[in-house]
This record gives sequence, C-alpha cells and structure tokens, in this order.
Amino acid sequence: MAAVKRIYSFGGGKAEGNRDMKDLLGGKGAGVAEMSNIGLLVPPGFTITTDVCVAFYKGGKKLPKDVLPGVEAALRKVEALTGKGFGSADDPLLVSVRSGARVSMPGMMDTVLNLGLNDRTVVGLAKRSQNERFAWDSYRRFCAMFGDVVLGMKPERKEDRDPFEVILERKKRAHGAKLDAELPVSALKELVVEFKAEVKRRKGIDFPDDPMQQLVAGIEAVFRSWDNERAIAYRRLNAIPAEWGTAVTVQAMVFGNMGEDSGTGVAFTRNPADGRNEFYGEFLVNAQGEDVVAGIRTPQKISELAARFPEIARQLEDARAKLERHYRDMQDIEFTIERGRLYLLQTRSGKRTGLAAVRIAVEMADARLISREEAVLRVDPAALNHLLRPIFDDAARLRAVDEGRLLARGLPAGPGAAAGRVVFFAEDAEAWKARGEQVVLARHETSPEDIRGMNAAQGFLTAFGGMTSHAALVARQMGKVAIVGCEALSFDYHARTMTVATARGPKVLREGDWISIDGTAGEVIEGSLATTPSEVMQVLIEKTREPSSAPVYQQFAKLLGWADRARRLKVRANADQPDQATVSVAFGAQGIGLCRTEHMFFGEGKIGPMREMIVAETLAERRAALAKLLPLQREDFAGIFRAMGGRPVTIRTIDPPLHEFLPQDPDGITELARATGKSEVHVRARIDELHEANPMLGHRGCRLGISYPEITEMQARAIFEAACEVAAEGLEVQPEVMIPLVGAKKELEHQAARVRAVAEAVFAERGARVRYTVGTMIEVPRGAVCAGPIAEVADFFSFGTNDLTQTTFGISRDDVGTVLQSYLENGIYEVDPFVTIDREGVGELMRLAVERGRRTKPNLKIGICGEHGGDPSSVEFCHQLGLDYVSCSPYRLPIARLAAAQAALREQAAAHPVKPARPAKANGRGGEKARATNRALAVPGVKPAKEPRKKRTRARPQARA
Ligand code: ADP
Ligand code: MG
Ligand code: MG
Repeated sequence: MAAVKRIYSFGGGKAEGNRDMKDLLGGKGAGVAEMSNIGLLVPPGFTITTDVCVAFYKGGKKLPKDVLPGVEAALRKVEALTGKGFGSADDPLLVSVRSGARVSMPGMMDTVLNLGLNDRTVVGLAKRSQNERFAWDSYRRFCAMFGDVVLGMKPERKEDRDPFEVILERKKRAHGAKLDAELPVSALKELVVEFKAEVKRRKGIDFPDDPMQQLVAGIEAVFRSWDNERAIAYRRLNAIPAEWGTAVTVQAMVFGNMGEDSGTGVAFTRNPADGRNEFYGEFLVNAQGEDVVAGIRTPQKISELAARFPEIARQLEDARAKLERHYRDMQDIEFTIERGRLYLLQTRSGKRTGLAAVRIAVEMADARLISREEAVLRVDPAALNHLLRPIFDDAARLRAVDEGRLLARGLPAGPGAAAGRVVFFAEDAEAWKARGEQVVLARHETSPEDIRGMNAAQGFLTAFGGMTSHAALVARQMGKVAIVGCEALSFDYHARTMTVATARGPKVLREGDWISIDGTAGEVIEGSLATTPSEVMQVLIEKTREPSSAPVYQQFAKLLGWADRARRLKVRANADQPDQATVSVAFGAQGIGLCRTEHMFFGEGKIGPMREMIVAETLAERRAALAKLLPLQREDFAGIFRAMGGRPVTIRTIDPPLHEFLPQDPDGITELARATGKSEVHVRARIDELHEANPMLGHRGCRLGISYPEITEMQARAIFEAACEVAAEGLEVQPEVMIPLVGAKKELEHQAARVRAVAEAVFAERGARVRYTVGTMIEVPRGAVCAGPIAEVADFFSFGTNDLTQTTFGISRDDVGTVLQSYLENGIYEVDPFVTIDREGVGELMRLAVERGRRTKPNLKIGICGEHGGDPSSVEFCHQLGLDYVSCSPYRLPIARLAAAQAALREQAAAHPVKPARPAKANGRGGEKARATNRALAVPGVKPAKEPRKKRTRARPQARA
C-alpha cells in the first residue's frame, strides 16, 4: 500500500500544507501552514491529519502505531528549526497540542499548552530564559491543563469547582495574593507538587514525566475531544458530520508570559460589529493563551498597543494588512508577543453581523481587493434583515433584564424591536392608533380579519402558531415586529388581561400596559424600551433621510445594485394594498406576484357588502351586494396599478372559504342580521352551512368561483375597469389574473372563460383594450402532474408552495406547533418544509410542472408566490428550475435579490471553475458572459437539483425557547 501522508510540517518560512487543505489539516492547521508560506512569523510545528483521527476512532481510540515514527521525525524538524530539544534538560522544546476541525468549532475541543515539562526540563527552561518565575508558572499551568484535558481531572459533581482551581485559590489565600502573578516562585513550585498529588489521589496514577509519553497522550486526548459532549452538541446544532474528525497541530510554544515585553491577544482585522475598517481586538501583557478569553484580567484595546509597544504595534499592523491582502477577507487572528517578537498563532475568516458583512464586502470590492461578484457572494442574504429592522438600545435592554422585566420568550417571527401599549383586539389596535397611541397587539392567535389591527400595531405577539402561522406571515409581509408561539401567555379576553407564566410566578398585564417585543431575539419585555428605525428604512420608506447622509444605506444599495446585475431571476412582491406596492417598488420589486384580494374585503367599508353577498338567498341579492363591492375593489386595483408604474401585477381571485368572512360571535350575528334585513335564524343557518370540517381542503379557491361565477366576474370587472381607467391616464398596466387551487384543466377553463368574457365586455364598453393574461396557481399535486393540459389554457403558472407543501405532505400548516416541532427535533424532517422548499418531494412536483407546462408552451411564464420566495435556499432552487421570477413579502425583496444573484453566480462558477491558484480579477466585469451562460443553463428540468452547500445550517428551524 502506498504510504499516505499523514503529517504535514510547517515553519521556517515554508509549509507542506496550505490554505486549501482544511479538510485534511483542519482550519487551524491550514491557517498556520498558509501563514508560514506567506512569510509571517509562525512557531514551527506539524499537523496530524483528520484521516488519522478517523483511524484513531476505528482502532479503538488508540493512536495508530505507524503514526508515531512520523511524529518523531516531524518533531526532529521542529527541534532543528528552534535549536531546542524535546525533553532536553538544557534547552527544552515545549509544544502545544491543538485541536482544529474543517470548520471552526470555537472552544468546543481541547488544547494543551507547555507540553514537555517535567522536573528536569523546568530547570533548563528557567536557566535559558533566566526567568525562574516564568518557568515554574508555565509548569504549573501545564500540570493543570494536562490534568484536566488528558487525565480527565474534572470536578466530581457539576456544582463543584475545578480541582486545580481550588488548590490555586487556597495557595493565593495563604500568600495573601489577589492575582496569580503575585505568587512567589516557591508557591508555584509547591503548586506543581500539590497538583500532581491531587492527580495521584483522585486517579491513582503518577503524572507522566516522559515528554514523549506526554505527547502521545496529548494527541490522543485532542482526538478524543472530538467526541466530547460539547462538541457533539455543537455538531448537531450546526449539522457538522461526525465522520469529519479533527486534526491535531503540534507546535513549538512561544511565551507571552515571559515578562513585561511579552503578551498575547486576539483581534479582528476589521470591526465585526459594524464593519468599520479598523483593527479591533484586545491583548494582555505578560500572559499566555487563554488568559484573554478567560477574562481573568481586563485586557487592553489593540489601539492602546502603539503607545506602549510602538514596534510591536507596527509589526501587528503589517501582519493585519498582509493577511487581509492575502485572504481577501476579514480575519480573526490570535497572536503572541515573546520578548518583543510577534508570532501569529491562528487566522480564520471572522464572524460578523449583517451590518458588518455588507460594509466589509462593499468596501473590499471598492478597494479592488475582491470582485463585485465575490462581494455579492460574501453576504448571507438573511443577514440583510439586520439592516432593515428598528433596534432597541442595548444598554436599555440590559437594564430591563437586570430589573427582572424580561417576561417570556417565543419564536422570533418578525425581526426588529417594537414597544407599545398592549391591546387584545384588532379593533382596539386600530382605534387606539387612530387616537395617537402606539400599540402592540397580543392575541392567542390572529386571523385574516385582524389584518387592519395588525397593520395599526407596532408589532404583534401570539401564544399560538409557528414561523409560518398567519401572524408570522403577515409580519413578514408588512415588515412588522412579531413574536409567535409564546406559550407562556394566556388570555382572558373578557377581563382584558394577559397572564405571563414567568419563573417568578404569573404576571398579569392589563390592556394599556406597556410592553416591548424584540422580534430578533424573541424576547417579551415589560415596559417601554426606546427604538429607532434603521437607516435604510429612513431613506427608502420613511424618506426622512437623504441617501447622501446615510452610509449604511449607500452600501446596501451598492451591494444590491451589483446583485441585480448578476441575477437572472426576476423578483416580485406579494402585496395587496397600494402602500405595500409602493414599499415593494422601493425595495426593487419588478412586479407583484401575488395580490390577495381577500385582504381587501376586510378593508374600510368592504366587509359589510361582502357579508351581505355571502348571506344572500338569491342570485339577484348576491349580485346587488357584489355591485356594492365592485367600485371598492376597482379603486384598490387602480391604486395598485398606479403604484406599480407599468410593472406586471398578478391578482388572485377569491381564495379562502367564505366562513372566514362571517362573524362568529352573537353580537356580530345580530348586527349582520339587522344590517342585511335577514333573520338571525337565517344568518346562523348560513354560518352552519358554510362551516368547514377542514378549511384547507374545503370550499375554496376556484371551487368558490365555480359555485359562484358572479364573484369571479365581479372581480374580473373590477380589475379590467381599473386597468382601463389607469391606462386612460396614460400609464402602462399589466394585469395578470390568477385562478387559485386548480387541479384540472376544466376548472381553469371554466374560470378563464368568465374572466375573458368580462374583459371583452369591459373593453367594448370602454372602447379601449389593455394587455392582460390569465393563469393559474399550481398548488395541489394534481395541478403539477396535469400541468401539460393545464398549460393549454394558462398564460402563466405561479407555484403556491404553501398549499403545495401542505397538500403534498398532507400536513396542515397550522399543525406546525405540534407535529412539525417533534419531527424537527427527531430529525425526521431536516428543515421546516414551510420555510425551505422540500426539494425531494415538493420540488420534484415543481420540476414536473415546469417540464410538462413548458412542453405544451415553451415560453410559459412561471413564478413562485409562496412564502418560500423569500428563502435563500428556495430561491436558489427556483433558479435551478429555470423559473422566471420569485415573489415574496416586500421586506424580503432584498434577500430574494441577493439570493437570486448568488444562485446565478454559483451556477456560473460551477460551469466555469476558476483555477484556485489565481484569484478572480477585481474588476467586477464578466457580467455579460455570465448572463449568457446562465441563460444557456436555464433549460428547465434538465439540471438535477444540487444540494446547497450550507442548506442544513442555514435553514435550521428556530428552536422553541
Ligand atoms: P482554540 O481553538 O480553543 O482557540 P487554540 O489551539 O487556538 O484553541 O489554543 C488556545 C490558546 O492557546 C490560543 O489563545 C493560542 O494563542 C494559545 N496557543 C496555542 N498554541 C500556542 C503556542 N504554540 N504558543 C503559544 N500560545 C499558543
Ligand atoms: Mg484559537
Ligand atoms: Mg393557496
């Protein structure tokens, strides 16, 4: 068998590994190798590959025998480079044994420092460094760390303290020392003896003195730490496969604890919170390794380094520039200063907020460090939310938590911050808002009839429902702050109170009490915290700020401009009011993909005639009621057409079952009877008749339009009259009438014929025509399977993936709280299929529909208007299917634009792989060719769905708090 390379050395300005070998060397190993290669000062060492870790687990958690000679040989190289000897009593080489997986798992696995010390080598270390204190300080640190990590000296019970910590504390007390550094050398020597005795007492073993034995045990312990509880939990949370294993890097120690000219630190090459191009980090003088993170002493800011150590500050600044130039991304680094010399110990791409991600990507592209395409690929689309949301003041939140005002947690359905007086009824929300109050609507759940109250509220809060519940959906569409599924809440609607079950017992809130909700964190806080709208919103929507004075907005706009150039998919909005249409256009909508007419029926003055229509006993009565609705709908449509300025508008005919429009409470029924001149008995009978055993599968969608063609006809008339009216004003209009829930060609034929007849009639009356189309939603499996014949009648398809997911899985969206949650917890579903399209099932039906539909009509326009249209992984899938557009909530448009661009760029990169050695030119061009390639690849149905690389991590469901 050919020998497989298992150990990669680095140091002395070169390395056997490099940055592209993360799979084998782990992120840390690849990072130190690369830094050696580019001439940064890195202590020499070697990395044992992840393959060895895999073999370690296969072989009963023992280091494979044949690895040892390689370790010894690699160690000899380190000795040669440092001029020190491992185990030498004269000038000992000490090493660290470090863990490092393919992807960083910060703090999850173990590391041992100062390995190679024993009673003989410590003397050599003291003599060579001429610093006895430093030598013994290192020794006692080593005993504690090795005891903990390798020998398993853990506290006996969870509530106990670390056994070495207890001994150290006792020693400090005996010497009247506050800090470790105040202990005399004699005490450090005693600590070593006492630590070893404690090991003997607890474990019955002698502390190993032989450095080679220490090293093997250290390597094995780091491999074992891949399987500790913390690491397993982290892997599960981040969908990291257990098979990967960790690499082990053995590296010569450098010492930040050698005195006042030494130190250690961590830093980001740019500010990770806001992205500012400034060196951001902390350091400690005379300290080692974990001290900075452990918070034993308060570290100093990097910016203070220059005052104290100008030469080191300059070296560090050089390293920062070099690393950024080389990695072309913001780096998170660890460094140690040993007697005035700077050593780098780690580099990786740094985690950042959405705000920082955008700023860094844009500024790096502007500086030609990366191309514009790369900038577009750098930002996680979901992170853009961060730039849109109003925010709570951090300090105010902390104060509230300190004061015990954090009441409960729920699912963060609508990110952002909102404060207001709590009300429990939608009407109240409207009425209070009208008199100038700021309100938060809290309810057990919400329904379409609450829509106006929801709009009036700053945000809403429900006890019931999941991330795709009505409240959550409306929150995204309206850009409202919302928390749903907050199970600690219970309501007494009569008493107008809400009770929150808190850790300290029940807390009762009355109507009008102030609450604050953080829809990003899912926190419900008592009282009012101050908020401000984000800069982007101030410019785009509120128009209270000039773009020129809004740098965050400018970066946002720039990045999205680049994204727009790269994408092939168009983006549209789901919007059903003129003001939502205006917001959509501001966020870049190229049309409306779904205008839900039922929301309009709840608008001012419309619910009355709607109900009249429903309780009507004869066709004539029904027509009379519809005649009242006609002008109201017409006005809504005209408003939307105007707001959309010639962009296409897809209007869906009535969809929900009629019972949703009727009152359920006795007062409402009496009132309805009075208003319509019907008997209460009749109204009640009608309500009973309309009761749906299963509203999801009931009398709804095109079924309603087939039972009551006059409703479809009234809606069609309103649409075409509005279109003609707006066209007469000289504006362009593009109505697209969409029939919901079609499963058979004849259903669509029936409805399309009515719509077309009305269109012709209106055009004849007005003596003018407008261009229009009639299409269908594909949202039941039969519709997808029969897409071929349906396309003979349809001008376009739009996937209603909410219903298509419900009907394909046979699971109701309202069951998310129970079934779905347990399925996700048990790993039966990897992701919530209502959030991210299930490519294997629902996705296959979509592919079938695209294929069959376009076989009938090659130019069939196809889009998606389910909630998935704003989910990055689903957008990518739509790109791969060759859809024409995705439609999503207005506030998700930026996400969809960016996700669509990334899908196109990734596809292009897969088709034309760039040689890894040569970074892409930073000129931001290549768009034309890219677009051509995309078009060529966009043949529907031929490309198999590729799993997105990070699908599982990105689409993790939000855990219930
Ligand atoms: P983690 O992955 O938890 O950050 P590391 O392997 O990076 O673990 O090590 C923890 C700390 O020890 C880091 O702060 C690092 O700077 C320090 N350290 C690791 N190896 C050495 C070394 N050879 N010399 C000096 N300090 C080291
Ligand atoms: Mg580290
Ligand atoms: Mg539907």
